[in-house]
Formats: sequence, C-alpha cells, structure tokens
Amino acid sequence: MSETHVERRARLMGPNVPTFYRSPVHLVRGEGVWLWDAAGKRYLDCYNNVPHVGHCHPKVVEAIAKQAATLNTHTRYLHDMVLDYLERLLGTFKNGIGQGILTCTGSEANDIALRMAQAATGKTGIIVTDDTYHGNTTAVSQLSARRPQIGERWPNVRLVPAPNSLLRPDPDGTIFAGHVKAAMAELAAAGFGTSALLICPMFANEGLPSLAPGWLAPTEAALRAEGALIIADEVQPGFGRSGSHFWGHERLGFKADIVTMGKPMGNGHPVAAVVTTPEIMASFRNVFSYFNTFGGNPVSAAAAMAVLQVIEEEGLQERAAKSSAYVKDRLEALNHPLIADVRANGLFFAVELRDGDKGATAFSVQLVENMVARGFLMNVIGADRNVLKIRPPMAFDIEHADLLIDALAAALAETKVPA
Ligand code: PMP
Repeated sequence: MSETHVERRARLMGPNVPTFYRSPVHLVRGEGVWLWDAAGKRYLDCYNNVPHVGHCHPKVVEAIAKQAATLNTHTRYLHDMVLDYLERLLGTFKNGIGQGILTCTGSEANDIALRMAQAATGKTGIIVTDDTYHGNTTAVSQLSARRPQIGERWPNVRLVPAPNSLLRPDPDGTIFAGHVKAAMAELAAAGFGTSALLICPMFANEGLPSLAPGWLAPTEAALRAEGALIIADEVQPGFGRSGSHFWGHERLGFKADIVTMGKPMGNGHPVAAVVTTPEIMASFRNVFSYFNTFGGNPVSAAAAMAVLQVIEEEGLQERAAKSSAYVKDRLEALNHPLIADVRANGLFFAVELRDGDKGATAFSVQLVENMVARGFLMNVIGADRNVLKIRPPMAFDIEHADLLIDALAAALAETKVPA
C-alpha cells in the first residue's frame, strides 16, 4: 500500500509534529479568504491571521517577486528598503517607540524582548500568564504554559492566572494586578527582581476575554512602581485586527515599553520584529552585538512594506471594525444551549461552549471537525479547549460572515458529542 501524506511526514519529520484537525488538511492554493485542498475542495479561511491581507495578495506577491529578482542578501549590508520599512512601521507607534530589530519569527522577537527588558532593568525575573504561548526558543518556551518542560521551569519565571471575563470576572483589573504584585514579591524575595510582564494585549491564546480599556492600569502602576517594563506580544492582535486601533495595546490603553510582532507582518513571508524606545534599545545593544542573517532582508522588507500599503489602501482596519460588529451580532443570535458567551475584539471572535459548570470540550472539538468537513477552517482555544477561535484574514467581509454563520448554525444542530 502506498504511504499516506501523514505517514510520510512522520517518517521524515518524526513523531508528534503538530497538525490542525483530526484529518489534517492538505492545502495547495489560496486566494483572498479562500483555500483549496489537493482534492479540489474549497474552504473559507476563518482562522488564519498569517495571510493578513488575503492569501496570495497580488501586491504582496509582486513586491516579493520584484525584490527577489533584484537582490536578496545578508542583512549586514546597507539597504534602503529595510530602512524605509522600519521608518513606516515605527510611524504607526506612539509613546516613544522609535527603534526596531527585524527577525524571522515571533519567537525570536520575544527572545530579544526578554533580553532587552533584562538589559534595561538589570533584573532577570519575568511574568507571563498561565495559559499562553509566546514561542519556541529555549528561553521563550519557558514562558509558554502549555509546552512540556525538560526539568523544572526556570526559577526566574512566574505564571499568573490568565484573565477570564466569564468565569472569574475582574472588571477593573485589580484581581489580575494582585496576582502580578504577588509574583513580583516572589521574584524579589528569590533575588531575581522583575524585568517585565509579557502579555498578548488580547490574551488571544488564553480565550480572548472581554476587557475594558484601562483594565491593565492597576497592573501597570504596580510594575512601574518597581521599574519593571511591559512587553506587548502583538503577534496576534497587531496590524489593525482590533478594528478600533492599529495595535492591541492601544486598544487596551496601556503603554508598552517593548512590542513584538510577527505572523501577519509579511502575509506569510517569514518576517517579524521587536520595537522599543531608543533608551531600551541602547541598553540592549550595549550588551548584545545582535544581528540576524535573514531577519528583515530586502525581500522580507518588501513583503512587509506591501502589507502596510495594502492595509491602508484597502481600508482593512476600518473594514475589520465593520465586519466585527456584524459577525458579533449574528453569533449572538445563534441559539444553542451550550453557547455560554460570545466575545469579539475586532476581526477576532471567541464562542465559549459550556455544559453547566464544565467546558464542553468534546463537543467543541467535534464541532470544529464538522465545520472543517463543511469547508470552514477555525479552531478551539482556552485551557479546556472549549472556546471556538474565529480569526479570519482581514479581507473577510459581510458576505463571508453570512456563509460562516449559516454553516455554524447547521453544524451546531448536527454535532453530537462522540461516545
Ligand atoms: N507569540 C504568540 C502570541 C503566538 O501566538 C505565537 C505563535 N503562535 C508566537 C509568539 C510565536 O511566533 P512564531 O511561530 O513566529 O515563532
């Protein structure tokens, strides 16, 4: 019998290589919000924030092709495109952020952010939430609650309970601030001190809780009182996804000292970044002589520049705000006994499914499988894997929202919990 794709993958890549879905999808082509698999089946992409401005956007494709045909090289040569891009990217920030480093992945960006915070504060402790993911370098994997660790977690890392607006309401953020203060006290007693709190401003991997602007203020005050910094991981919220703001930390209303970004930045081309104030950058550069061979090479910079141009030309942030309100209304109108909460943060939605006091884990996982079978890609998040995560490319419009929600209504009616 001939080897399947999944078997070949395991033979060549080893065991436990993550894939989405029980029957992994083998995609071969994309256009806008649409994808096609190897058998010619069409899917509506309701999940992927990497092709931010739409799969294979012609302007991004053209920018990559043109620059690749002209020059691509090591980043230790001078190149205008890289500086033009950084200038434009940094122009989207307020609050003193004025310098950046381009990398290939969000993990690298967070790894640098960690070292920046440590260099700037002289402290080594770091605080993250207990249900997050920030990447896969040796250091950053210590900050990702769900990844198995070899040996004990590093003693300079403290996990605090992630906010959960449904089960543990904390409307003014004082409970979260209390957890952060306790972690800071522990880190001080252990001799590390606190360099920074690292959070995703939407708490996207944690379940996308509903948090009012200003919610982080008590935590921010506690951190500032000790000279600790805030790192905003904008890998998921960034580049206009919230609809109301270009960056997630602006929407939540706190001052980020260091911001990291990745996934949507190059529309699938591997480019990511860490940006900060000139003062923090100087503390980092004075300790580490950092360069990244591929990070922000001319082709990556051209891809990233095209993404910023398309967001502006096509008014994608404004469109996200419009589609957001429409999708939220339609999700709220769905009638199913397990739907416990619907949350929206721009073009990012969470539908929490609960059975009494328990997360409806098996139902949620099966529902996603049924949606994939119907040709709609989405996933589940949250500690109990019971929160539908809907996070389409920014080219997702009202017509697509109607297709999605009609299919979701039918799949909700059809889904039975597997025995
Ligand atoms: N931060 C967050 C919040 C993420 O969701 C991810 C990836 N899922 C990363 C960082 C890591 O990015 P990358 O896979 O590009 O290293």
